[in-house]
Amino acid sequence: MEFDLIERIRRRVPARTDVVLGIGDDAAIVQVPADRQLVIATDTLNAGVHFPAATAPTDIGWKALAVNLSDLAAMGAQPAWCTLSLSVPHSNAAWLDGFHDGFLEISALHGVALVGGDTTSGPMSICVTVHGLVAPGEALRRDAARVGDDVWVSGTLGDAAAALRRLLPGPGEECAPLPCALRARLDRPTPRVGLGIALAGLANACIDVSDGLLADLGHICSASGVAGVVQLADLPTSPEMRSAYSAGERAVLQATGGDDYELCFTAPRSRRDKIEQLAVHAGTALTRIGHIHAGSGISARSADGESWLPASAGYQHFAG
Ligand code: ADP
Ligand code: MG
Repeated sequence: MEFDLIERIRRRVPARTDVVLGIGDDAAIVQVPADRQLVIATDTLNAGVHFPAATAPTDIGWKALAVNLSDLAAMGAQPAWCTLSLSVPHSNAAWLDGFHDGFLEISALHGVALVGGDTTSGPMSICVTVHGLVAPGEALRRDAARVGDDVWVSGTLGDAAAALRRLLPGPGEECAPLPCALRARLDRPTPRVGLGIALAGLANACIDVSDGLLADLGHICSASGVAGVVQLADLPTSPEMRSAYSAGERAVLQATGGDDYELCFTAPRSRRDKIEQLAVHAGTALTRIGHIHAGSGISARSADGESWLPASAGYQHFAG
């Protein structure tokens, strides 16, 4: 890749003393603390699949790292380093600068050092790998939910899916105005990094909500060999969402819409007080939305106690 651009990126990467050799050589070298396990996650963003093609390059850069940090958050890991593999259709310095602005903005917020990458020409695709650290055995996993656990979720649900529906209305749907707060939830998701770290030791199982609440809670339940039930009336709802959509539309968006990047976790009833204190301390709402029971599968109940079945539990890349 163009030396100037690499040099500009290199100068803006947050400094970390555990980076022995960063951008510029054939590979990076980092020092892993002897008393930590390395946690590794990778996520790709494709134009038109993971973000609308018209998204601003800075927002794409932000989101590319944010969704990866969300995976580390769901493991309760402290982010440390990342790499970035970029494929862009043609050399476009302004686009690349904008992209790295957004990427380096969120990397600075979390003290994550970009230690290397690759820049090639081809269909637009962005692949990020993040590396985090966790005390041995402390990581939050999907397979640790227990019968009797409460099910909790952070923040609010459905905002990004609501924004996407306004941006790309279906056949016969009108183009309605899109509140900025909903748009920001789609373009600039907030990975719950501090919350995930604080949940290690409190939560049993944890996942980040990227494909849709029911689909993702379903992963916890199948990995743990248990069943889950969710009360739709208890799903945390932003004021913008409440005023933009009817209760019926909200249920679909909140239970099955993707891109929330909130944490869904299970915890024993005995930890309710501690979790409520954590919400105050972390400044992130934590809402109890259901519970875990013996059996298998996921169900949702509406306010009148009726069981509710969506057409699909969440986004699937290879469905049908
Ligand atoms: P090589 O041919 O050895 O792969 P490159 O020209 O691809 O070399 O990359 C040179 C250096 O710049 C490497 O250290 C690589 O990790 C880094 N790099 C390339 N693209 C990026 C990028 N988009 N972000 C961060 N580092 C990058
Ligand atoms: Mg290369």
